[in-house]
This record gives sequence, C-alpha cells and structure tokens, in this order.
Amino acid sequence: MRQTTKSETAFIKSKEVFPGGVNSPVRAFGSVGGTPLFIDHAKGAHIYDVDGNEYVDYVLSWGPMILGHAQEQVLKKVMETAQKGTSFGAPSPLETELATWVKKRVPSIETMRMVNSGTEATMSAIRLARGYTKREKFIKFNGCYHGHSDSFLVNAGSGVATFELEDSPGVPKELIKATLSLDYNDLEAVEEAFKRYPEEIAAVIIEPIAGNMGLIPAEPEFLKGISRLTKEYGALFIFDEVMTGFRCDYDSAQGLYDIDPDLTTLGKVVGGGLPAAVFGGKKKYMDHIAPVGAVYQAGTLSGNPLAMAAGIATLEQLTKKDYEEMNQKVMRLTSGIKESAEKHGLPIQVSARGTMWGFFFNESPVVDFKTSKNSDQHFFGHFHKEMLNQGVYLSPSQFETNFMSTAHSDEDIEKTIQAFNTTFDVLAKK
Ligand code: PMP
Repeated sequence: MRQTTKSETAFIKSKEVFPGGVNSPVRAFGSVGGTPLFIDHAKGAHIYDVDGNEYVDYVLSWGPMILGHAQEQVLKKVMETAQKGTSFGAPSPLETELATWVKKRVPSIETMRMVNSGTEATMSAIRLARGYTKREKFIKFNGCYHGHSDSFLVNAGSGVATFELEDSPGVPKELIKATLSLDYNDLEAVEEAFKRYPEEIAAVIIEPIAGNMGLIPAEPEFLKGISRLTKEYGALFIFDEVMTGFRCDYDSAQGLYDIDPDLTTLGKVVGGGLPAAVFGGKKKYMDHIAPVGAVYQAGTLSGNPLAMAAGIATLEQLTKKDYEEMNQKVMRLTSGIKESAEKHGLPIQVSARGTMWGFFFNESPVVDFKTSKNSDQHFFGHFHKEMLNQGVYLSPSQFETNFMSTAHSDEDIEKTIQAFNTTFDVLAKK
C-alpha cells in the first residue's frame, strides 16, 4: 500500500478549521472512505500528493485542466498578466478578448456576463429567466447538478447525491415548490408539466450531457422535444454547459446536439483552472440584465484579469484535432476498461462523450438518476481505493465523471488499463 501519512496528518489539521476538513464536500472522499489525498503539486496529466506519491489524474480539477496541469503557455500568460495587477474592479480588454473566444466557439451566446463560478452563472441565468418571463417555476432534472444556489438543491446530483442530501435544509419551501424536478430523458414528464402549468414555467435548465450522476448523455430527441416545448409555452431553454462547455467537444454540447438554447452557462474550462464562469445567450434576454435592464447581477472580482488570461490561453491553444485525439484516448481507455471488467465477470456500463468518460458497476443500462443509483456504490468504494494504490486518481464518487486532457500520453492510458486489470484481480480475490 502507498504511504499516505502526511495526507492523514494534514486531514486531521484541516478538520480543525473546515467542516469535514474540506472546502467542497466530494473532496472529503465520503462515499469511498479513507483519507483524501492532500495535493502538493501537479504537472501535465500527473498529480502528486504531499507524501510524494504520483497519480495519473482523470479528475483534472473536476474538468477545467483540459491542457493538463501547469501548462507552460497558460502559466506564462497568467504570470505576465499578474505583473500588471491582479484585479481592478473596472473593465479591462482581456474580458472582451475572452468573450470573443466564447462567441466564436458557442455562437448561441450573443452577449454574456463573466462571473466567478458555475453556481453564480446558473443562479443568474435562472434569475434572468424569471425576471424576463415574470414567472417563478422552472424545470430541472433529477440527478443534474447546477451549483449550490437554493433553487437547484432539489433532487440534485454530484455531492448532494453522494452524501444523500437530496433536499438540503436551509432552502425556503417556496423555492422548493417553484422547482419542478423531473426524470432525465423523460420527455413526457416535461410535456405534462407544461400542460399543468402553461403560464408559470420560466425555464427548463439541463445538463445536456449529465455529468453529475455519473456520465449520462441526453437522448437527442429529448433535447429537441424540450426545445420545441419551451418555444411553444414561452419559457427559456437554458443549457448548463458548466461542465460540457469547451469540454465534451470543440463545439460544446449544443454543437454536438445541434440545439440553439436561449441561455447558456459555462464554467470550468472557460477559466483555464482559475475562477471564471459565464452566463450568456440571446441579446434580447441578456439586455434585461442591469445596467441595461432591471435584473440585478454583479461581482467584485468578475472578469478577473488572471482568470481571463488563463481562459484565453486555454481556448486559443485548443484545436479540433486536440478534441479528436482526446476522444480517441477516451475510446481506447473505455474499451480497455470494458474488456477488463468482462474478463473478470463484473457487470459494467461504460459511457463516453468526447473527452468525458465514466462507468457504472451496474447490470443494466443507466439512463437517469434512478438507474444510476442502482449501481454498486459499495464495490465502487473498494475499487476507488485500490485504483489509488495502483497510481490512478479517479473521481471519488459514482455520481461524478472523469475527464481526459491533451497531456495524457499513450503510456498513461496503458498504465490506467493495467491498473483497472490489477484492481479487478485484487478485488476478485477478496
Ligand atoms: N453546473 C454544472 C453542470 C456543474 O457540473 C457544476 C460544478 N460541477 C456547476 C454548475 C457549479 O459550478 P461551480 O462548482 O463552479 O460553482
């Protein structure tokens, strides 16, 4: 077993100052058990803990590090920018430069606001939809995660699911009532909700490729149907691409599915590993945001120059070919995993979209939150621990996704397949 005594000591100290010792719940390794690794540094596709252990990293800071960690050009641009000052609280040209990249790659976004986190982006998008339509209800889907603002914490995925807190205390009842949480990939349920509340639903928000209940892509007809229904009933269609934006594919999920949403939220990759996120969409809606319109939204550090620099340096390097190559690596890896599980007689469902990949220890296909929850969580915990022992750092929950970067080498992929094989061998003997 790898030595992790320094992580253990660091965890004892961090528990004295942070609830559960962490600043975001899934980091606590709650569902897989054991001590979370405390990270010293990371480079490329590899992450190093404070005990000096090296891991092939597929968490990639939960998605942003698509070029790998500490990438030379990103670092250079951030450091050059820092020399000129780290925050002004006033407009700077870097904001417009990043916005231009966003518009080029996600054409449905005509105008936008830079914010600091995905949570802020989705919270603001819902407020805008409510302000514009003068309606209060909205539809989301069970197992999708849209950040931790009040309205979204109803049957949510990610850490909310991992810790079985599907309705968080502290959320006002009125907000829970205004949130209609339906089953993913169930178009009929959406249709029924619109029939029941034809003039009350402000928006439908969705992860077009759900990554917070494990990786579950939407059926194309499901998304097309929602697009039709929102138009028919005068509600806005919000694509939450905080995870998928610039990530699943060069054209993001809306390009992959050929959908033109009214509003889109972006995060993670758009900030290149620093805190930046975006909400944006059609100008006719965005013009309701202050100071042009009356819907209020603001931020002291919004459009922060360092985050803008990291985002620009990331987006300007990524080519279509990079996405193809990352996808090829994902395909090689996931077919290796499937083969290995089958060889060991383990039930597995493997899913992959572009540079995102995941798997469920489950006999049957996984299409929504209910089927995702049927997966063998207990086995996953043992599996995750052994994978760490084999030097592979995977998302520490079944309700999360893994990612690929341009920095992962063929050798990393082979090593990872081998680690799956060895882990399945070890677990079979237990
Ligand atoms: N939406 C989606 C789809 C996400 O995956 C996440 C975070 N994983 C968020 C919103 C919230 O983003 P943040 O953690 O930056 O607040």
